[in-house]
Amino acid sequence: PCDFKPEPYQVRGLYLRVTYYKKPVFINQGYMQWLWDVDGRRYLDLFAGVATVSVGHCNPKVTETAEKQLRRLWHTTAIYVYPQMQEYAEKLASLLPDPLKVVYFTNSGSEANDLAVLMARLYTGNFDVITLRGSYHGGSPQATGLTSNADYKYPIPSSMGCHNTMCPDVFRGLWGGSHCRDSPVQTIRECSCSPGTNTHTHTHTHILSKSICFFLFSGHCQANDMYIRELNEMFATTVPSRIAAFFAEPIQGVGGAVQFPKNYLKDTYQLVREKGGICIADEVQTGFGRTGSHFWGFQGHNVFPDMVTMAKGIANGFPMGAVVTTAEIARSFGKGVHFNTFGGNPLACAVASSVLDTIKEDKMQENSAEVGTYLLTELAKLRDKYEIIGDVRGKGLQIGVEMVKDKASRDPLPPEAMAEIFEDTKDMGVLIGKGGLYGQTFRIKPPMCITKNDADFFLAVFNQAVQNYME
Ligand code: PMP
Repeated sequence: PCDFKPEPYQVRGLYLRVTYYKKPVFINQGYMQWLWDVDGRRYLDLFAGVATVSVGHCNPKVTETAEKQLRRLWHTTAIYVYPQMQEYAEKLASLLPDPLKVVYFTNSGSEANDLAVLMARLYTGNFDVITLRGSYHGGSPQATGLTSNADYKYPIPSSMGCHNTMCPDVFRGLWGGSHCRDSPVQTIRECSCSPGTNTHTHTHTHILSKSICFFLFSGHCQANDMYIRELNEMFATTVPSRIAAFFAEPIQGVGGAVQFPKNYLKDTYQLVREKGGICIADEVQTGFGRTGSHFWGFQGHNVFPDMVTMAKGIANGFPMGAVVTTAEIARSFGKGVHFNTFGGNPLACAVASSVLDTIKEDKMQENSAEVGTYLLTELAKLRDKYEIIGDVRGKGLQIGVEMVKDKASRDPLPPEAMAEIFEDTKDMGVLIGKGGLYGQTFRIKPPMCITKNDADFFLAVFNQAVQNYME
């Protein structure tokens, strides 16, 4: 039901960022997985404000908690202690393995990552930070330094001490990606050790070249060797014994649901620690049950980070972020104080606490696993049907559909073509996202309450949109 009846709305003001769709979509109301625009049109929301509305728009349980808290206490700053913060910090820490037990609150993912960099530098006494190409870690001056995605880089220096290493992209990286696009493709062979969705077998092209792509000869299973070798080269050249931290999202979000080869994070964590750095998992998109099989994305990689940063899904759209780390690292603040006026305010903590309860009570993580697996399986059928769907990947409800000109070249589908399918999907009533290094990947990260029926509706719409484009 759409209860709010707004006045007809016009686009006003240059400050509005309306570039995502050709015509702006003015959203007026939301309920669980549904959104309504100002004309009363209903959309199935499969993007959830970029993986943020974890338990559904205006989820009744969370809304009720927020309403109660609004009448009790909004704000004091963390100069005082209040039960909402204490209880929530304990609840959150109980979901992380020992010794990750010290919680700091912020208002966003960027702030959380800024704080993580600061603590890593203070703790290690080192300065350099390594992130992966294609990563997104935020929009603040420090976090844009961590972010490698060119779309979010500004022509001012913000990356002092920040370095990108190769992204171990199972689909594009092994194929060659941009760094070896021009290399001659010589042989093709099958490899059956797909660590990705397990829904299909990737066909790998092995490229004969004297460049770094030479290592691709070793094949999929030894892909880690290539990435670890690149990291070792960085330690031997750009960042000798100065590493403070290695940051990675367990599944890249803005980068296009990019998944890493098995053991990549494990091997990388080991090397980074040997070199004196700490390992930070950016769970801003992958946390809070989104990946289905685990509550945190890092658990799917069998690693133990030294610090975890989070935001987005933490409070279902209420601005909040957090860093959880060990007591030993937290002590590195020394006499310095971490102060954040709004961070962890009573309202945010009450909302976030209710989000955790709702995920548990309404089995949303389990639903992520079930509907996510269903979507991945069905989307894989579309991938087999259409030449322009190159890859379907992800985990739970963190899904990417990578579009290509054709399966042989794996060249990214151009932006105009992406836009056509994207618009058509919206016109048929489904909102999805876009991402990837070349904007070639559709991103599906809905509220975790979507049903199989919703999934079927999306699959029919997406099938139609791709077919319309092909015709
Ligand atoms: N890390 C990741 C993985 C993200 O996806 C984002 C936001 N897209 C951020 C950090 C930054 O979060 P925020 O926009 O809340 O500052």
